[in-house]
Amino acid sequence: MEKREELYAGKAKSVYTTDDPDLLVMHFRNDTSAFDGKKREQLDRKGAVNNQFNAFIMSKLREAGIPTHMERQLSVDESLVKRLQMIPVECVVRNIAAGSICRRLGIQEGTELSPPTYELFLKDDALGDPMINESHALSFAWATEAQLERMKELTFMANDVLRKLFLDGGMLLVDFKLEFGVFHGEVLLADEFSPDGCRLWDKETREKLDKDRFRQDLGNVVESYEQVGRRLGMTFSYQ
Ligand code: ADP
Ligand code: UDP
Repeated sequence: MEKREELYAGKAKSVYTTDDPDLLVMHFRNDTSAFDGKKREQLDRKGAVNNQFNAFIMSKLREAGIPTHMERQLSVDESLVKRLQMIPVECVVRNIAAGSICRRLGIQEGTELSPPTYELFLKDDALGDPMINESHALSFAWATEAQLERMKELTFMANDVLRKLFLDGGMLLVDFKLEFGVFHGEVLLADEFSPDGCRLWDKETREKLDKDRFRQDLGNVVESYEQVGRRLGMTFSYQ
């Protein structure tokens, strides 16, 4: 599938139009950012690792009955996806407290959350991705009631599948963020699932294996992502 023109360059990925108006090429770059783009760096191999990691996870989610935008992996760092009308709402499930919930609610990192929490954030870097609720999403027409219900259902289905998958690799799925979009009226899982958008801890030592290594300057960022993939049985290619 030939790339035509760059449609959008985000903080970590670029999307390109193709000959087919329904399909986009998604290029995973080595750019890494945190704190709404305020901290940025280039990390060798990250684009390739996240593209292959995402393709692996999306196929597991599809097998579990979650409809996704993924068509197929094109190269080490590119995938072909359906072109969606994106819903500007990020869906976050937390199984264990970490990150912003600790700051917002004064919860100690590592506290088990049972049942898991479900939060919505507006995708808007300039505003710092503020937390919103379903009422905001409806009033400002970011999503319909039926879409919000489906997003929640699919996010919890993903949590069930992925918690088990990572636990089998000796890891705890602490939290994660998903984005959805609409394709010919249907809500599909979009964007990516990679260690950039979730928290994963070693089950025994609770060592952080996700983007917190970058946020907190812990080092070995991409090496940890590769280790996560290998623990799930993946092998990575770089060219
Ligand atoms: P950001 O916009 O947060 O900087 P990225 O660098 O990951 O994020 O850029 C990818 C962009 O592509 C995001 O804005 C995401 O919402 C959008 N996107 C993801 N999947 C699709 C899709 N299937 N169709 C259209 N846009 C998508
Ligand atoms: N997350 C993300 N993109 C965002 C915000 C959050 O991928 O723009 C992910 C983040 O990596 C974590 C989860 O969503 O796995 C919850 O993030 P949190 O609200 O704790 O924010 P943080 O403290 O990570 O900024």
